[in-house]
Amino acid sequence: MANPNPEIKYTKLFINNEYIDAVSGKTFPTMNPATGQKIIDVAEGDKADVDLAVEAAKKAFARGSPWREMDPWNRSKIMIKLADLIMRDQVYIANLETLDNGKPFSEAMMDVIYSVEVLKYYAGWCDKFSGDTVPAGSSLYSVTKKEPIGVVGQIIPWNYPLLMLAWKWGPALATGCTIVMKPAEQTPLTALYVASLAKEAGFAPGVINIIPGYGPTAGAAISHHPEIRKVAFTGSVEVGKIIMKAAAETNLKRVSLELGGKSPLVVCDDADVDEAVEIAHEALFSNHGQSCCAGSRTYVHEKIYDQFVKKAVEKAKARKVGNPFEKGVQQGPQIDDEMFTKVLGYIESGKKEGAKLECGGKRLGDVGFFIEPTVFSNVKDDMKIAKEEIFGPVQSIFKFNNLDEMIERANNTQYGLAAAIITKDLNRAVRFSNYVDAGSVWINCYDAVLPQVPFGGYKMSGFGRELGKAGLDNYLETKTVTMKLSNKNL
Ligand code: ADP
Repeated sequence: MANPNPEIKYTKLFINNEYIDAVSGKTFPTMNPATGQKIIDVAEGDKADVDLAVEAAKKAFARGSPWREMDPWNRSKIMIKLADLIMRDQVYIANLETLDNGKPFSEAMMDVIYSVEVLKYYAGWCDKFSGDTVPAGSSLYSVTKKEPIGVVGQIIPWNYPLLMLAWKWGPALATGCTIVMKPAEQTPLTALYVASLAKEAGFAPGVINIIPGYGPTAGAAISHHPEIRKVAFTGSVEVGKIIMKAAAETNLKRVSLELGGKSPLVVCDDADVDEAVEIAHEALFSNHGQSCCAGSRTYVHEKIYDQFVKKAVEKAKARKVGNPFEKGVQQGPQIDDEMFTKVLGYIESGKKEGAKLECGGKRLGDVGFFIEPTVFSNVKDDMKIAKEEIFGPVQSIFKFNNLDEMIERANNTQYGLAAAIITKDLNRAVRFSNYVDAGSVWINCYDAVLPQVPFGGYKMSGFGRELGKAGLDNYLETKTVTMKLSNKNL
């Protein structure tokens, strides 16, 4: 099953259902984070390539084109076909993902399944979104229609390469838009492969275009393009701001942003400690801590604090880190040298500012970007590790004694992506969910992310929702059609 040497079939740009070289002829290396070695060179897209892709996407969206005129139930069929083809190639795709991203093979296999579920969920929406009839008086007849926004740009990150693709393709295709996507420069391989499956499924040329490349070049060409009507972005706050600015300075394209987080997970004194330790551990360490909604601030009630810390440390020490293709491995390498160095820098700052390093804290091995699962206790709200997104396997445990005060502390951040509470007290749970500033609140669980449940941020974690019915809104315009009625008898 797991195969560390999958054949790499596609490395070129995908435009108009063809794989082509970049106009500049340039390529860039995509690296294996487990070894630090190059996997292969990939065509490096830039403005000229984005222009070509937008031309293709515009043509595919034009009046009279097969895609524009396709009945919605047929759009749905092609989307389901694509989902089935991805599932057919699950093992191959998971191998490619593990090679390029470093996540354990078993998790990459799950990511393929989650991606397929998202595509199938949105396939179901193709013929189900609709407008309203509007009471406009006896002399007017007025209805609203929901129409696809047109050519959309999608810029995705490296932490869940395939899953983020599915989150973005699903609603864009269901609504009938056409796509110019830039995968992250660290992880272009699965997007390029899945593009071939889109062609096989029957998507017309130009409906889906993939431009691998760097952010300040290919990404910026998307966010500045005057004919792209909307850009959907997942990544850092810093780049989110750049994208909004580009949209403002060009054609006021619609923007949806899913950015970082510093999500609180609150463990009350009535929690089952073993269960809470388990939830908090997965909330932080899953995907090597490289998750925008990671539970990166673990607040534990003082009555159970010492017991919780002891067990959390045991759990972190038992986490199996290593070759992501090896069975049983739970944590592979961080994505690249830059993130690896950044995470180690945060660990140093935690130590310097007086947090107690309970375990981990160092590089693991001398090849690749592996970091020991790390736990800090005695973390204080004003420390850097309490405020900034670490995006690595570093759990920070804080103490609290009063839930009212705790809610203030939970909200004392620029972010607002997710929050969780672990308690048997329904009243506490609901009050917490009422007052915490977060797009997703989980009670007695974490990361309960489903295709039908909207996901997105409050405050600087972004705006617009992905998944669920709300995810369609990012890709739709509302058109009002009003007709004058005659007073004559029929
Ligand atoms: P991370 O810090 O997680 O790598 P980034 O926000 O830097 O997140 O990157 C997320 C995505 O945004 C990637 O596809 C990246 O290439 C792209 N990106 C980076 N800089 C820019 C930019 N200036 N304009 C558009 N896209 C960008």
